[in-house]
Amino acid sequence: RAAPPAREVASVCPYCGVGCQVGFRVRDGAIEEVAGRDGPSNQGRLCVKGRFGFDYLRHPDRLTRPLVRIAPKDPADCLDPRRARAKFREAGWEEAMALAAEGLARIRDGHGPDALAGFGSAKGSNEEAYLFQKLVRTGFGTNNVDHCTRLCHAASVAALLEGIGSGAVTAPFMAAAEAEVILVIGARPTENHPVAATFLKEAAARGATLVTLDPRGSALDRFATEVVRFAPGRDVPMLNAMLHTVITEGLYDRQYVAAHTEDFEALRDHVAALTPEAMAPLCGVPAEQLRRVARRFARARTAMIFWGMGISQSTHGTDNTRCLIALALLCGQVGRPGTGLHPLRGQNNVQGASDAGLIPMMFPDYHRTTDDAARGHLERLWGATLDPKPGLTVVEIMHAMARGEIRGMYVMGENPAMSDPDVAHARAALARLDHLVVQDLFLTETAALADVVLPASAWPEKDGTVTNTNRQVQMGRAAVPMPEGVRQDLDLITEMANRLGLRWDYRHPRDVFPEMAAAMPSLASITWERLEREGSVTYPCPAPDAAGQAIVFGDRFPTASGRGRFVPAGLRDPDEMPDERYPFVLTTGRQLEHWHTGTMTRRAGALDALEPEPTASLAPVDLRRLGLAPGQRLRLETRRGAIELAAREDPALPQGLVFVPFAYREAAANLLTNPQLDPYGKIPEFKYCAVRVEPV
Ligand code: SF4
Repeated sequence: RAAPPAREVASVCPYCGVGCQVGFRVRDGAIEEVAGRDGPSNQGRLCVKGRFGFDYLRHPDRLTRPLVRIAPKDPADCLDPRRARAKFREAGWEEAMALAAEGLARIRDGHGPDALAGFGSAKGSNEEAYLFQKLVRTGFGTNNVDHCTRLCHAASVAALLEGIGSGAVTAPFMAAAEAEVILVIGARPTENHPVAATFLKEAAARGATLVTLDPRGSALDRFATEVVRFAPGRDVPMLNAMLHTVITEGLYDRQYVAAHTEDFEALRDHVAALTPEAMAPLCGVPAEQLRRVARRFARARTAMIFWGMGISQSTHGTDNTRCLIALALLCGQVGRPGTGLHPLRGQNNVQGASDAGLIPMMFPDYHRTTDDAARGHLERLWGATLDPKPGLTVVEIMHAMARGEIRGMYVMGENPAMSDPDVAHARAALARLDHLVVQDLFLTETAALADVVLPASAWPEKDGTVTNTNRQVQMGRAAVPMPEGVRQDLDLITEMANRLGLRWDYRHPRDVFPEMAAAMPSLASITWERLEREGSVTYPCPAPDAAGQAIVFGDRFPTASGRGRFVPAGLRDPDEMPDERYPFVLTTGRQLEHWHTGTMTRRAGALDALEPEPTASLAPVDLRRLGLAPGQRLRLETRRGAIELAAREDPALPQGLVFVPFAYREAAANLLTNPQLDPYGKIPEFKYCAVRVEPV
């Protein structure tokens, strides 16, 4: 008998913020293959994660029954899944949900709402993110709700809101096709946004001047007109020297600056002494190259700036971004085709989850919790009283847990026991909680410390919308059924809300979307039905039958004055400088094959086969000096912890710099990282700390 034909279900890739549209080819209730669809951000293309990273769905580790704790928590359980599993027993849904909700309610009623917190997920849908933050604000009664944006682009968003009044990109990455000059700084799109990288490479092939700026170097360098290797942690002096050049050589767009910006004089005075000659010894870039890159950018008719976490994951991440905004504003490179500011967003829905309000100091659409009018609007919409006090951010929540101030938490689809800086501290804090509820696909390192674990639904099993780095809101569709025993995340959030005393009746994301749109003016003219029809609509969108606005801020910015604002960035050392005991600099990040803490990709057969073990990359000269050959074991130690892993030689790395990906439980990079925060974006310093390297 012939096999039944495969059907194709149109959805979106669950990994990075590029938001490639995919077709899940399904036969007999299982995904056979994933193909690229002709989506606006991928035009049929996919990278290795989108193409091969889907068999985690059926991995034997997949949770299908709720778990409740039967033995004491121990942070060491994070290291050993079997030991962690032995401390739980399976439970029915009624028992598990009752225990989960009663534990949270007991803490709320006994210790007050601020003794609770919630981490939502940038891997869920917009509707789930919206409901999760609404649950925390109205059911828990606190604004202590955050998600992984705090650990990726919080500094970018802080600077963008301050400088141009909006935290999203001003133009999609495809606009690079019309750019004469493209700067890519602190980003490795070939690994982390691979399909976006193909559009940048095409622009370079067509003749655009591509300048890559990064301490580590990347595969994109091969396509670059000019490569700038600056010293780790020294972005601000480098960028200030460029701003100095543009201003003192009169290369800036006087008309644009006069018509569309404010506080130019403050910037001019600030950078007056920050000459390329003065900054070159600090940033390690020759003065002539600093001038050349600044001139290239300023003289271009059209230019774009792309950046990633190399810019934002720093104690001066907001200052880094302020400089990039200043460069674009000075040269009038915003609001026209071929121009723009584009922070490449990390997770597939980190833009949407942030827009939907998974942020402790802001309600949906970035209205501050202290804004009486915005709060009043939501109070009427939600029929609840809201706290004006901003909540705590991810790392602040960990500190409050360690102090015993936060006692209970609900975590959906996030893994802070791997992703937080100084993760031994985070694990101890999580273990200290009176009550932790974790909703996830697997018994993650965070779930290993939970009191109740709720099996979650995976992206190809659910309907919902997501918003990519280009501000394109896209429709995801369920392709396969959930494993028996698993429930939809949206159902679990709704049931939790009802058990905490709310009266919700959302049965499907389409029931949530109209309310979400009422809370978020950015979604005006975008409806569930339209997304079902069109698959993708960019916001802002002027009318139900009009295309969304891909390029924004041509005439005015959404700031109080309507102008873009220059904010000078001072020079500061990274928080922890190398010394005799810790002479190397450690930087952390992702790899092409693995996604964040590895929960999904390390259970995806092809991806894990490509990168099966943790490695520390060093420059050949450093390996030689340490007497190490590639593949040999080495030990990395910082003031916070130590890990052992295999050495890898990377000729692109400068001397003295070590790179470790953070996807590997057995050598968790974040045992080493520095939790010190950027004062504005509250993002930790993942990209720089002092480390000691020794052969094992
Ligand atoms: Fe998925 Fe990003 Fe790869 Fe596209 S580029 S297939 S969205 S991981």
